[in-house]
Amino acid sequence: MDGDIHDLVIAGSGVAGLSAAVYAARSDLEPLVLEGDEPGGQLTLTTDVENYLGFPEGVGGFELVQRGREQAARFGAEFQIAAIDAASLDDRPFELSLSTGERLRTRSLIVATGASARWVGADGEEQLMGNGLSTCATCDAAFHRGNDVLVVGGGDSAMEEALVLAKFADSVTVVHRRAELRASEIMARRARAHDAIEFRWNTELVELRGTPEDGVTGATLVAHPDGYPRENYEAGEDVEVLDVEVGGVFYAVGHVPNTTFLRETPVELDEDGHVRTVVTTTTTREGVFAAGDVMDRRYRQAITAAGTGARAALDAEEWLAEREVHGRIEAPA
Ligand SMILES: Cc1cc2nc3c(=O)[nH]c(=O)nc-3n(C[C@H](O)[C@H](O)[C@H](O)COP(=O)(O)OP(=O)(O)OC[C@H]3O[C@@H](n4cnc5c(N)ncnc54)[C@H](O)[C@@H]3O)c2cc1C
Repeated sequence: MDGDIHDLVIAGSGVAGLSAAVYAARSDLEPLVLEGDEPGGQLTLTTDVENYLGFPEGVGGFELVQRGREQAARFGAEFQIAAIDAASLDDRPFELSLSTGERLRTRSLIVATGASARWVGADGEEQLMGNGLSTCATCDAAFHRGNDVLVVGGGDSAMEEALVLAKFADSVTVVHRRAELRASEIMARRARAHDAIEFRWNTELVELRGTPEDGVTGATLVAHPDGYPRENYEAGEDVEVLDVEVGGVFYAVGHVPNTTFLRETPVELDEDGHVRTVVTTTTTREGVFAAGDVMDRRYRQAITAAGTGARAALDAEEWLAEREVHGRIEAPA
């Protein structure tokens, strides 16, 4: 066990965690940022970010988080490459078990561990994510002016992505593995009524073509009248195989919040695993705060994540100050 008791540990080094780190470090809380397995978070998966305030020419996702990291470090934030594997949050100080085998104690915790978009497992997706393949139409639709694009999914978020894309793309094809949508009636009706949106039922994506330089240029789809055609395709059974030329592909098959380590703790999660916040960024466990995509199923944008990160740091600072914890006076759990 690390002998020190930290005032504040921030789990996650995406924009939410970094923004919290800047605020907390400037308040002399000397936060320790645990970077997790993906230092810099989801933005490192994308090339251009055009909707973050202050960059009229856009900014690379990696550059944006790198600058944030430098900014936080300048004010005294410490960084460690480690993920929280397990957390004991019943008593304070909280105890965190890390992927490195170490254990830490902290008086307060900001959870900014993000949510990972589900990928479908098509060939080529590792290489093309962020280069024509995306999980965020609000972020990347404007790059597809005049393109033909695919949206993979059949729920509300797939309909939303398709409607956003239809403002820019020439055509949007929703690829869904069943013959019925999971989306709500109203969202399905809006998407079906749009001239630029069409549907391919009982169809799945199995391969993406293109290069990181040229982006996505095509895709291979498989179809079978019984639905879920990929199973048949992988078993070598008869399916229709379609090669299509497209300039972009969007996955809209859900997000998984990175909260496994919170499952057995007093921090309440919603049915999908997002942290439930009570007032602003406070959670159901006093001293634990949440920021960014891990607590926000609706907006999922860099700027909104940075905003909640700042709020979480201010909330944590106030909470620590109210209990006179900051200043090294221990408070009862
Ligand atoms: C391809 C793509 C393009 C995008 N483009 C844009 C865009 O143009 N504009 C825009 O506004 N938004 C964009 N987004 C969305 C944006 O990236 C997210 O909204 C934002 O990154 C959320 O920030 P976050 O800090 O909440 O989480 P994340 O960025 O997901 O960061 C989570 C952090 O938590 C860490 N972590 C995870 N588990 C643990 C653990 N157990 N312990 C410790 N640390 C852990 C990870 O290593 C990571 O550092 C895009 C997303 C994607 C995927």
